[in-house]
Amino acid sequence: MKTIVLENQKSPIFIYREADRCLLCYDPPCTRNCPAHIDIPGFIYHIRSGNFEAAYRKIKSANPFADTCGYVCPDENLCQKECIRGLIDEPIRIRELHSYVTETLGYRDVIEPVRLKGKKVAIVGAGPAGITAALKLIESGYEVHIFDRNGIGGIPSAEIPLGRLPSEAVQRDIMALKRPGIKVYDGKEIKSLTELEGYDAVLLAFGLVERDLKIPGADLPGVIGPKELLRSAREEKTDFSGKRAVVIGGGNVALDSAYVLKEKGAHVLIAYRRELKYAPSWTKERVLTFLKGVEFLYLVSPTEILGRDRVEGVRFVRMRLEKADESGRPRAVPIEGSQFVIEADVVVPAIGETAPPYFPEVRRDERGFILVDEKGRTSKEGVFAAGDLTGEGGTVVEAVTQGKRAAHAIAEYLGRSS
Ligand code: SF4
Repeated sequence: MKTIVLENQKSPIFIYREADRCLLCYDPPCTRNCPAHIDIPGFIYHIRSGNFEAAYRKIKSANPFADTCGYVCPDENLCQKECIRGLIDEPIRIRELHSYVTETLGYRDVIEPVRLKGKKVAIVGAGPAGITAALKLIESGYEVHIFDRNGIGGIPSAEIPLGRLPSEAVQRDIMALKRPGIKVYDGKEIKSLTELEGYDAVLLAFGLVERDLKIPGADLPGVIGPKELLRSAREEKTDFSGKRAVVIGGGNVALDSAYVLKEKGAHVLIAYRRELKYAPSWTKERVLTFLKGVEFLYLVSPTEILGRDRVEGVRFVRMRLEKADESGRPRAVPIEGSQFVIEADVVVPAIGETAPPYFPEVRRDERGFILVDEKGRTSKEGVFAAGDLTGEGGTVVEAVTQGKRAAHAIAEYLGRSS
């Protein structure tokens, strides 16, 4: 029988031993499978030789949000999944290694000062995509003005539960914005290109809005959107002691909502319309939520939120699965006469998000996301988009990659038009 030994993954012994196990592959599959293309064998080699400063530079210059990714990256689906060492015994714990380096060194500036070229880029949205693009553009000599109505840092600084991502990690990633050539407009909302006249290029990188639950009772007091819930939970404002909470949805936002409700004292049930294996959440997050004591109910869909002056329960119908729909997952269809009620004081509909209808000047796809080509260019010349609003990706490291891609395309565009 295999014995599982729980180790302290932040101890130097663990880190050096993991670094020593790396095969330092030529053409490493881990780097290819990291969306930010961190030179993984390169930084591990520096750890082995004790040069943490060089390891830090390699990590942060490829991924400005490496501190955040050190906590929330789904490494088992990305870099670690392709680790060749996994064919021998266990894959190298890559995320833990880079997290150890960034935490040990704290914040360091990895951007060399450059002479500004006299052109200015507006970035709308200060999440991982927008901030990454800002840092890459300043490296290329372009001045950046970055706007965000919800504050700086996007989802990592406002919505990921503190139990999963300490705020110090995000703050270290954001710190790089404090430099000449980058101006931050915290709290400023921009909704159309006419407000951005005078800029040489524009990058749209703002966040998504929640989809509405279109059933009777969805506007009753006690129905709380996941964004509102997660933001208020980070600010320690909330207490759900003794409340019965139902979270509707099967994605990571549903799991995060359940996690914070449980932390704040509620009895929590997640209700999802398909089976667990079709849920769009990560296995590791599901296990954490399960261990936290959250209950799961599958193959159910809400038909009505019940209550007179506020939420008192949810009426569900049981579902069965039929052949795959356009998402590739089986279609969930209601079973006639199978309705039942679950009592609840709080309901959180975490059923997906879409891009808000700002910037009507650029084209969108049929789902409402902003259309971009392979370089991140929108239908309007000089306007680019990156991050969740393009409907691609959804993880922090993928947003970073899109920010890098857009910054590259903007520099190419401005270089041509000079
Ligand atoms: S950023 Fe994510 S995918 Fe890239 S090396 Fe780190 S954990 Fe792996």
